[in-house]
Amino acid sequence: MADKYDVIVIGGGPGGYVAAIRAAQLGYNTACIEKRINKQDQPALGGTCLNVGCIPSKALLDSSWKYHEAEESFADHGIGVGKLSLDLKTMHERKDKVVQQLTGGVASLFKANKVTWLQGTGQLKANKQVVFTPHEGDEQTLEADNVILAAGSVPVEIPPAEVDQKIIVDSTGALEFDSVPKKLGVIGAGIIGLELGSVWSRLGSQVTVLEAVDTFLPAVDQQIAKEASKLFTKQGLDIQLGARVTGTKKNKNSVRVTYTDKDGEHEETFDRLIVAVGRRPYTEGLLSQDAGVTLDERNFIYVDNQCRTDVPGVYAIGDLVRGPALAHKAIEEGVMVAEVIAGEHTQVNYDAVPSVIYTHPEVAWVGKTEEEVKDSGEPYKTGAVPFAANGRALAAGEPGGLVKFVVDEKTDRVLGMHVLGPQASELIQQGVVAMEFGASIEDLQLMVFGHPSLSETVHEAALATDYKAIHVA
Ligand code: FAD
Repeated sequence: MADKYDVIVIGGGPGGYVAAIRAAQLGYNTACIEKRINKQDQPALGGTCLNVGCIPSKALLDSSWKYHEAEESFADHGIGVGKLSLDLKTMHERKDKVVQQLTGGVASLFKANKVTWLQGTGQLKANKQVVFTPHEGDEQTLEADNVILAAGSVPVEIPPAEVDQKIIVDSTGALEFDSVPKKLGVIGAGIIGLELGSVWSRLGSQVTVLEAVDTFLPAVDQQIAKEASKLFTKQGLDIQLGARVTGTKKNKNSVRVTYTDKDGEHEETFDRLIVAVGRRPYTEGLLSQDAGVTLDERNFIYVDNQCRTDVPGVYAIGDLVRGPALAHKAIEEGVMVAEVIAGEHTQVNYDAVPSVIYTHPEVAWVGKTEEEVKDSGEPYKTGAVPFAANGRALAAGEPGGLVKFVVDEKTDRVLGMHVLGPQASELIQQGVVAMEFGASIEDLQLMVFGHPSLSETVHEAALATDYKAIHVA
């Protein structure tokens, strides 16, 4: 007889492992199937995010920022460090340790919550049956009352730049360079391209980012995007917009890239090339012919707003489904689905999902951009205040960037908050809380903010929507 579970989760990334833990907390006999083998050749939980995404990229962003500061700004503080050197091997070892600590932590949480970790590949069949092919041993057919698909996403590949993980790499390869490329090309000026470009630029690479679209960060409020573009260019990132890569030719240790822009065809040779043009849902091998779930026109698994697929009892979450490909969105969908299974009233507020680009300064936003609100035709007001007017930012030597609010003129409700600046990833949460509670901008204006703190610029931007900011001329 087939092994039977209350809940089977396929995929142990942030969506899947959180769904499994929450389901177990709610009393369900839960298994999570994860096929990942990490670079130490061990089975690993944590998905893209913990193994080759959010966490290792942030470890390198933090290490490279420290290096950059030692090189560029310690002297301003009167700190001398002698001759600076870079030990990339140690930097990678530190990153790997952080990753192992966190992925090992998820395995411990599974044990503590009695989630069964099935190491191998899962495939959904009809009638909520799941074929489990372990890394070692025979295939088994499992049964479940509920199945949660959480197989995540993989990098999009483009024919003119085939990834070999040596000279032309995707985001995973870009986390593993064993020397700093002298000249680095990046295809794609999205979140991942900008973050990885920043890492290597800080460590000494001359970085050119080739972006096919004419607008820099089209999803970001354009006042913020324009300012960010200026700051990144000043830091040495050469960002070419409207530049479409048409071909690559590899040599032993370099790659010649051909691209076209409004001025015609160009050629440039790089030591390494990162392809960062987006990610696509990872459905290969996940669904048998008779599984019955529907895909949408972009190959995402089709779900309703509570992540139900077309098959009763089968759910899909995270990067496999519509919405931003972000770990925290996957996490909250994982919690929601487990609670939906338990019959609880629950939801994800998709209007208040923050996004962050971990450059320096960071870019973060939640809600609507000014452009979106303008297009809607509804009356609105904005307030924007630079960090250059903030004592804490100046004391830290971080005067670049601004905070901006977009507010409904009629109701005074916060429609969007946008930050370019130090700790933007933390500051944006104030906008998320405000929007979640349906705050008016007056609520924020009337709050007391600690002094001196970066948050005071949030306060000032709120005041600026009604021309009441104190520290701007
Ligand atoms: P995943 O994390 O992709 O996990 C899915 C898991 O399912 C994988 O481990 C895979 O092995 C497994 N799997 C797939 N198919 C099967 C199968 N048939 N059987 C068994 N197992 C299977 N997001 C942020 O919010 N913040 C960031 O700072 C951030 N930085 C990023 C940096 C980089 C370089 C990258 C690449 C991504 C980053 N992301 C970031 C995005 C984030 O990693 C994803 O949004 C998130 O991991 C999605 O979670 P998930 O659970 O849907 O899928």
